[in-house]
Amino acid sequence: MPTKRFYHESMYQFDQAQPSYWEATAGAPLPDWPALTGDQSCEVAVIGGGFTGMSTALHLARDHGSNVRVLEAGHIGWGASGRNGGFCSVGGTHMSVKRQLRKYGKKQTYDFYQSQIDSIALCKQLIEAEDMDFKPLGHGEWIVAESQSHFKRLCIEAEEMSAHTPIKPVMLSQQEFARAGYEAPHQHGAMLVGPAFGLHPLRYIKGLAKAAAKYGADISPNSEVLRWEKHNGKHRLECANGTLTADKLVVACNGFMPEHLSPALHAYTLPLQSVLNVTRPLTDAELAEYPWHDNCPAINSPHVYVYYRLLPDNRIMIGGRGDTVGHPDGARKTSANIHATFSRLWPKWSHVEFEYSWRGLICFSQNLKPSVSQLPSDKSVYLGFGYHGGGVACATWVGQQLAISINSEKTIEQSHMPAIYKGMPPRFPIPALRKALGRVGLEYYLTLDKLNK
Ligand SMILES: Cc1cc2nc3c(=O)[nH]c(=O)nc-3n(C[C@H](O)[C@H](O)[C@H](O)COP(=O)(O)OP(=O)(O)OC[C@H]3O[C@@H](n4cnc5c(N)ncnc54)[C@H](O)[C@@H]3O)c2cc1C
Repeated sequence: MPTKRFYHESMYQFDQAQPSYWEATAGAPLPDWPALTGDQSCEVAVIGGGFTGMSTALHLARDHGSNVRVLEAGHIGWGASGRNGGFCSVGGTHMSVKRQLRKYGKKQTYDFYQSQIDSIALCKQLIEAEDMDFKPLGHGEWIVAESQSHFKRLCIEAEEMSAHTPIKPVMLSQQEFARAGYEAPHQHGAMLVGPAFGLHPLRYIKGLAKAAAKYGADISPNSEVLRWEKHNGKHRLECANGTLTADKLVVACNGFMPEHLSPALHAYTLPLQSVLNVTRPLTDAELAEYPWHDNCPAINSPHVYVYYRLLPDNRIMIGGRGDTVGHPDGARKTSANIHATFSRLWPKWSHVEFEYSWRGLICFSQNLKPSVSQLPSDKSVYLGFGYHGGGVACATWVGQQLAISINSEKTIEQSHMPAIYKGMPPRFPIPALRKALGRVGLEYYLTLDKLNK
């Protein structure tokens, strides 16, 4: 069992918030929920207060009347959920439609994409029902073509998606995209994939937490689980100042999977760094250089995504992949590389400074699919993870599905969930080489991007 964290320790400082644009605009504070103290018990314990964990708790408390407590090592939204790009879009897997068709067949592929549509609708419904303090922005996600050949490949992808999934992307030529999306020398047209929208991720996770508490869930931030044991058929979780005993356990830690807690959690995940930057507000004159006509989130590379949004206060947010060490020096280099990309994409904005830069962990698995599962060795342990950088909507939906499964007589394998979600992925065969694998994979996909494959 590993004793060390996957990346440099600076990535696991649970008592420190990332210096993000979202933290700077976080809105009203949450109630001052205390950390876990004393010996507590509940029916379902959730480790991790991100979208997966909080959505599970919300749905358990609201729809099933369960007695549930969330233990979060940092503040609510400390993990990827409070620091992502806010693209509420189709995600969850790194598999193409073609590959899914080969592996799961037509019906399961169709059902997976339907679940993605449902997950985006679920987010919207929760934002409205809980009166959250931000507005969804945009009406789809732009996949921007970087070259003529990329545009041709997007046309083929759009045809595949339309033929085999309930999602019907719309292709726009360079001129059409300049009128509907934005104008810039690098764009060669775009594919609009809907439904999708942009949100404020930290306000969204805080909204989920407030709602979960309203329906009766107990929430304990600043409560890192340091030890996990099973005694007399119950899970016993130990934090610095208290213990929690529960009948069932949900591990909702995604890229921050605490592998050191148990060999049962070891080597299922490959956490990768994603880095985000936000500029200062652009002036009207600067914005006029490359007019933008909407707030839809956008990505522009086929494999290693560069992703960006125009924020409501006229800043540009732009993100990309980080290094495979996790040291703060690496983060500074990545941020500089992203500035170089920003300058390449919008040369007339190359003088525009970044005011915010931060990072977090996304989660890959060996079979490139999201996982909703029970531990093979202990069916009272539930997991939802492996969203491959696309977890805003997917993790919210997975939380809802976990709540249903926990209250069902059926196992997850027996449930109606699309097959792609079901079960644990294979473990990485040589766990110690995962970082090297991450490096090789990144280089491979960057090369494909360069070769325009
Ligand atoms: C920079 C960045 C940009 C992204 N952009 C997008 C995007 O635009 N759109 C999109 O769909 N997805 C995006 N993602 C991915 C998305 O944010 C994640 O898939 C999603 O937030 C996963 O939610 P989660 O609740 O499963 O995990 P997390 O939000 O990471 O939560 C896991 C939590 O577990 C807690 N934890 C770990 N160990 C313990 C322990 N021992 N005890 C207690 N708590 C513990 C951590 O503190 C953490 O808060 C991005 C991710 C990053 C990092």
